[in-house]
Amino acid sequence: MSTEQTSPSLAANQTPGLVCAHNHFYSFLARGMPAPPRTPTEFGEILELVWWRLDMALDLDIIYHSAKLGALTALEAGCTAVIDHHESPNAIEGSLSVIADACAEVGVRVNCAYGVTDRHGPEGASAGLAENDRFLSAGGVGMVGLHAAFTCEPDTIAAAAEMGRKHGVGVHVHVAEGPADTWQMLDGHTNDDWLLIHGVHLPDDHGLSGTMVHNPRSNMNNSVGYANPRRFSNPVALGTDGIGADMLDEFRVAFVKAREVDVTATPDTMWDWLEAGWGLFPQAQNDVVTWNYEVMDPWRLAYTTAVAPKRVEVDGEVLLEDGAPTKVDAQEIKAKAAEAATKLFRKLADL
Ligand SMILES: [Zn+2]
Repeated sequence: MSTEQTSPSLAANQTPGLVCAHNHFYSFLARGMPAPPRTPTEFGEILELVWWRLDMALDLDIIYHSAKLGALTALEAGCTAVIDHHESPNAIEGSLSVIADACAEVGVRVNCAYGVTDRHGPEGASAGLAENDRFLSAGGVGMVGLHAAFTCEPDTIAAAAEMGRKHGVGVHVHVAEGPADTWQMLDGHTNDDWLLIHGVHLPDDHGLSGTMVHNPRSNMNNSVGYANPRRFSNPVALGTDGIGADMLDEFRVAFVKAREVDVTATPDTMWDWLEAGWGLFPQAQNDVVTWNYEVMDPWRLAYTTAVAPKRVEVDGEVLLEDGAPTKVDAQEIKAKAAEAATKLFRKLADL
């Protein structure tokens, strides 16, 4: 990624394009899905009964419509750059290109990674590594993905780290989201260009290198605990972990979560986390979002809800005007996504 930017000068009601530092576009059709076979009682069961069933049911067509809806959702929230983490064990090859193409049609920038795991045996891990390699070798914007240390063999982690070095990119990996994650296996592999997602159960002095990506709403939803990322020496950025791509909303949740444990916390810290996204995805600084709120100031935004973009320009091209996309038909994307969701839910029922 180039770090030389010629950022446009901005008015008080404008920002560069916002960056979501961790998302899962494959999960955007999950809203409205049938209830799991039984109610999960802890994070491990949420993975087993919800997400590891959903990812098994994905095919390339469903992935395309899910990613397109995700990109539209991001654009409508003034988020012009998304760092995505993808898994579809029964449709691995080509999946990252499908996501990149869907995002390009909407005009949203995306950084893709396939979350490699040994959950489906060594063949599954090899296929995941191969998809990262294929996509990056073809010039795709991405990273090497790992699901999490606790679902990977040591050799798989080493292979992902090596592949990242080969392509000059970092590894995008979930770290210590729940207490069962054996994150220590990552020790000795990490680098400053890695993305460490969550870190809820990491000790303060964990020794891992990389940017810590905080997803406060997802962590609360999964009842995994509070990461309190201010305790780490790593840089911190913000992600949504699959729950939309409204980064102003995530900033607000991050602020109020910090206030819950420390009334002296200020929104400047969480605004710094939002701005850290531009270090990860510098191209978003070429984008201009004009908001329906006059002053884009952290203290005001911490207490102002429903701030939305009126206009979004990506690299000088207007992609959203008066809140509506210009390149694509939002209603059509939503209708096609609803059809794909129906197919997905039918496949889930047959699992
Ligand atoms: Zn995640």
